[in-house]
Amino acid sequence: MDSKVIVITGAGGVLCGNFAKELAKDGHRVALLDINIDAAEKLAAEIRENGGEAIAIKTNVLEKESLENAHNEVLNTFGKCQVLINGAGGNNPRGTTTNEYFNPEDIDKEDVVSFFDLQPDGVSFVFDLNFLGVLLPTQVFAKDFVMGEKGCILNISSMNAYTPLTKIPAYSGAKAAVSNLTQWLAVHFANSGVRVNAIAPGFFVTNQNRGLLFNDDGTPTARTNKILNATPMGRFGEADELMGTVRFLLDDSVSSFITGVVIPIDGGFSAYSGV
Ligand code: NAD
Repeated sequence: MDSKVIVITGAGGVLCGNFAKELAKDGHRVALLDINIDAAEKLAAEIRENGGEAIAIKTNVLEKESLENAHNEVLNTFGKCQVLINGAGGNNPRGTTTNEYFNPEDIDKEDVVSFFDLQPDGVSFVFDLNFLGVLLPTQVFAKDFVMGEKGCILNISSMNAYTPLTKIPAYSGAKAAVSNLTQWLAVHFANSGVRVNAIAPGFFVTNQNRGLLFNDDGTPTARTNKILNATPMGRFGEADELMGTVRFLLDDSVSSFITGVVIPIDGGFSAYSGV
């Protein structure tokens, strides 16, 4: 694929940070947008030290003004955005129940968050981050390539989009909405030279899920054992294992007729009934 200007939100994180590193190695100019500027700057410096072209920009994907500022900085440094990867997202304890199954005794327990204790602001926080956090950057950056130039958008959905996981109703609903929005945008931009696709990673250990997967002493939680039992390959994925599909979906020379798809990369999780 020719060298492109690639904007990656959430690039200070584990999965999208790796996208940034690998795509920079391929010769692309990468703009790393993250609310965690320290992480994004550290990675951008590392990419530059290795001969790549990268900038880090402190950006909140939920604030239009912050995104507009980032857009101007990308235009001034690299020129128009040609690829947008909407990677910022994740779960939060405020949208999470303590237990998998409802037990009437939980209602009076201070240390248990039951379904009835979930607060609207906690649910909205997770929903907004994952859904609006894709919609708003797309509004700001896709303008660069709907005006007669080709462009490409990649969103990050999840296994939760197909069947919700226990405990995380807000994240599951929001990721289902991301898959849905991917299809909607693909149709909406189909005649504008813009392709919109998504990947649906299975289970990868990153900052946003570490607390659910491992106890403080580093031992796996019961949830980790369930996940690994439900993943036929019996292990977590490695960030690099997403790269083949990412490169494929971004490259017009091999995927020019592909738009509106969500590709699972999950060690067989979505194919397995559990029996
Ligand atoms: P991560 O926590 O390592 O990275 C997420 C990044 O998003 C962080 O750097 C964080 O600072 C950034 N971010 C959070 N809020 C932001 C905001 N308002 N504005 C800008 N940046 C913000 O997690 P990750 O697992 O690498 O997540 C990357 C994407 O992959 C997310 O969309 C996540 O939902 C998705 N995903 C992850 C998994 C997994 O198993 N890890 C599975 C499926 C999907």
